[in-house]
Amino acid sequence: MGETPLSPELIRPAASTDPAETFAAAARLIERAAGIVGAANVSAADDVDDYLDAYALGDRRTFLPGGAVRPAEAEQVQAVVRAAGELGVPLWPIGRGKNLGYGGPAPRVPGSVVIDLTRMNRVLTVDDQTAYAIVEPGVSFFELHDELLQRGSRLWASVPDLGWGSVVGNALERGYGYTAHGDHQQFVCGLEVVLPSGELIRTGMGALPGSEAWPLYRGGFGPGLEGLFMQSNLGIVTKMGVWLMPRPERFAACRIAIDSEEALPQLVDAMRELKLDGTVDGVVNAANAVGVAAGMSPRERWYGGDGVVPDDVVRLLADDLGIGLWNVKCAFYGSDALLDLKEQRLRGAIAAIPGSTVIVHRYDGTASADEVEPVDHFAAGIPGMLLAEGVRWRANGTGGAHIGLCPVSPLTGEHVVEASRIMRTHIEAAGFDYIGGWLGTARHAVNVLMIFFDAADPVEAEKVRVAFSELVPLLAAKGYGEYRAHLEFMDTVAAQFSWNDGALLEFVRTLKQAVDPQGILAPGKQGIWPR
Ligand code: ADP
Repeated sequence: MGETPLSPELIRPAASTDPAETFAAAARLIERAAGIVGAANVSAADDVDDYLDAYALGDRRTFLPGGAVRPAEAEQVQAVVRAAGELGVPLWPIGRGKNLGYGGPAPRVPGSVVIDLTRMNRVLTVDDQTAYAIVEPGVSFFELHDELLQRGSRLWASVPDLGWGSVVGNALERGYGYTAHGDHQQFVCGLEVVLPSGELIRTGMGALPGSEAWPLYRGGFGPGLEGLFMQSNLGIVTKMGVWLMPRPERFAACRIAIDSEEALPQLVDAMRELKLDGTVDGVVNAANAVGVAAGMSPRERWYGGDGVVPDDVVRLLADDLGIGLWNVKCAFYGSDALLDLKEQRLRGAIAAIPGSTVIVHRYDGTASADEVEPVDHFAAGIPGMLLAEGVRWRANGTGGAHIGLCPVSPLTGEHVVEASRIMRTHIEAAGFDYIGGWLGTARHAVNVLMIFFDAADPVEAEKVRVAFSELVPLLAAKGYGEYRAHLEFMDTVAAQFSWNDGALLEFVRTLKQAVDPQGILAPGKQGIWPR
């Protein structure tokens, strides 16, 4: 059984189409699509600035779209997909296109037509009784939050660090927020999908005419398909059911800090136990001191020298900001009596770690955004843009960009420290600060290396590319695989998932061939290419 990474040829077959042909076919599709969605809702190839990757590693036009189409309803998506099939044009669906660090709105194959779903931004249903919403793919986290408030709903949505992305795009990409519903893929129930043939399906109970359990019971009758459309190029999602969290009576936003690297394994293990026993409800979010500082200030505030910010400066900045060398945010929910018990248990577990501190803020579930400290907004699913500042860490001009390397490991001190060590050693050798963190559910950690760089500086961007390309296989050799990847690295990451000579990728390609024989839908996404 093969245990080495797959060969590039297996990942990406030799290109069968000439890029010039793809762009020419895209132009024909744009013309046709204007008749479907209206001339104001298409963009030709010379008008795609809004669809370039603002955080590209080098030339933004590497992943150049051949145009964009903005449908307003599922029927229009179907018609455009059918037209693309007839004309042989690759498509690339996006929600809000804020998938920055992974390619933003840009497609994997140059000349692809972006299906921009921003206009499909209705919250179709909010059901307070059984606690779910059905949203269209263009609904942003800000919009869902506002809609819930406007409707006087008792429900909360979980939000990622930045609120401008789409609820659907984030969940399909397996993004995270920080409430009890923070592992977003776990709270998807019921999809409506346009297949590459143009056919429309509803998953699970959605296939039973009139069933109200579509967004409530994932099973349906037969195989569950939600996962098939995540990080996938098998369909375009036009509706999604998402389970929401009933507003708690009270909630606690908690910050834990440790003042040494040595205590990190203990902190990780303690957080796992607190998640496993149900003390902590929300997804655990940890960041090192430089990571916290980068979220609020440019680098020069702390260090004007070349090279990596030295350890003594890191200690000074941590003291100045009143943070630790590692910092955890987490949340728990319930009545005050329950919070008392949870807080006591959490404080007891953390007190056993040398050099640790705990700060807990409690709020009413009904507290408005103004009444909750901005640093605690994560716990209540209040969307914001606070962390967008981070891109100015190294670049104060317009080139500020980031890319994330996020290998998954077991949530144990040993593994998190090892993943962190590999990433830190490598990225510091390349001259970048180690901005690290991890997200913890009860069992796995997504170990985050955030690389802030100046995209306007080609030399710097190239260094990032090299470091990233080297780190992916290094981490994979330890069993740590990326949970998501920028367009540039999708093939490299997919190649690491090679167990049994790449049998999984082969199976997915068989599915791809069956449902999309022409390979028109997002070819190359996650390393899945048409045969
Ligand atoms: P964000 O939600 O952050 O704005 P995007 O809209 O760019 O992110 O979506 C991220 C990725 O998710 C896209 O590149 C695409 O691969 C996938 N995606 C987004 N929306 C859909 C959809 N409705 N159907 C299928 N895939 C989607």
